[in-house]
Amino acid sequence: MKDRKDTSILLIYTGGTIGMIHDPETGSLIPIDFNHITYHVPELDKFGFNLESVSFNPVKDSSNIDPDVWIKMAETIEENYEKYDGFVVLHGTDTMAYSASALSFMLENLAKPVIFTGSQLPIGLLRTDGRENLLTAIEIASAKENGLPLVPEVCIFFDNELTRGNRTTKFSAEHFDAFNSPNYPPLAEVGLHLKYNYTLIRYPDPRKNLIVHKTFNTNVAILKLFPGIGRNLVQAILNTKDLRAIIIETFGSGNAPTYRWFIDDLKSFIDSGGIIFNVTQCHGGSVEMGLYETSRELLAAGVVSGKDITSEASVTKLMHLLGTCGSKEEVEKCLGKSIAGEIS
Ligand code: ASP
Repeated sequence: MKDRKDTSILLIYTGGTIGMIHDPETGSLIPIDFNHITYHVPELDKFGFNLESVSFNPVKDSSNIDPDVWIKMAETIEENYEKYDGFVVLHGTDTMAYSASALSFMLENLAKPVIFTGSQLPIGLLRTDGRENLLTAIEIASAKENGLPLVPEVCIFFDNELTRGNRTTKFSAEHFDAFNSPNYPPLAEVGLHLKYNYTLIRYPDPRKNLIVHKTFNTNVAILKLFPGIGRNLVQAILNTKDLRAIIIETFGSGNAPTYRWFIDDLKSFIDSGGIIFNVTQCHGGSVEMGLYETSRELLAAGVVSGKDITSEASVTKLMHLLGTCGSKEEVEKCLGKSIAGEIS
C-alpha cells in the first residue's frame, strides 16, 4: 500500500466485549481505558500511519444502543469526515447489524469506509478474536487504490468476511464466525490475502457531498407470525397508540394466514394511514408476494414487499424513512427500492 504515512484512521469505541477485560477483583467484564488500546494490541503501532481513537463515555453494551446513539456515531463521523481516510467503529456484536444498517441509511453519499467490528471474546483474553478483527478492520478502512478508498461503505468485518452492514445479521452467540450476509455475497474475504469483490462494492458519485440524516421515528413494530396466532395479539399491536408502521415477519416467501379477520385487520390499519412491510422470517431468500394464494391478498390489501431485506435493515430503514419522508406514499416508494444496497 502506498502513502501510508498520509493515511489517518479514527477508531470509535462505543462499547461491547471487544473493549473489555476481566476485573481481577470481581471477575466481571469491565471496559478498558481505550486510550491504552496499544497495551492490549501492541501490533497497532506497526501500521505506521496516524491512528487515533475516541471512546464513548459511558460506553454502551450494544443492547442499550438506540437511535440517539446512532446519531452520536454519525455525528462523530461527520465532525471528523475531512480529517480521516476511514473509520472503524468498535461495537458490541448483539445489535451491531442494526447500527450498521442505520448508519448506512444516515450517511448518504458516503465516500469513506466505515467498518464495524467487535469480538466474541474480550480483547484482554489470550484467545480473543478481537485482535484479528480489529487489525483487519483497520487494514480495510485504510485500503486505497489510485488514492481512493476501496470500500466506501458501511460494512461489518468479522472473522474472515467483510459484509455490507445492511445485509448482515448476527446468527451465532457462540462461534467466532458470528455474522452472515444471507442474500448478498461478502465484499471481501480474508485468508492469506485480502480479496475484494470489486464488482459488489457500491461507489458513490464523487460530485456529491456527504449528507447526514439524523431523524428517526420509532413508532414501528415487528409482528412475528406463528401458527395459531390470535386476533387479540394482532389487534393489540395494530391498536398501539401512534403506531405508524408494522413489519410482519411472514412465512417462507412472504406468506401469512388467509383468515378473513387477519386480512381485514391489516387492511383497515393500512386504510387508516398505516404502513405494513412484509419481511420473511426465513434466514435467506426473498418475499415474493402473489406467488402463493397466502400472500396475494396481502398484496391486494396494500402490504409492501420487503423483498430480501434483513430484519435489522427493515426496522432501521422504516424508522429512517418515517423520520425523513414527507408522506406515506414517499415512505412506501422508498421501502420498495434500494437506498443503500439493502435489497436486491
Ligand atoms: N453484550 C455484548 C454487546 O453486544 C456482546 C458483545 O459485544 O459481543 O455489547
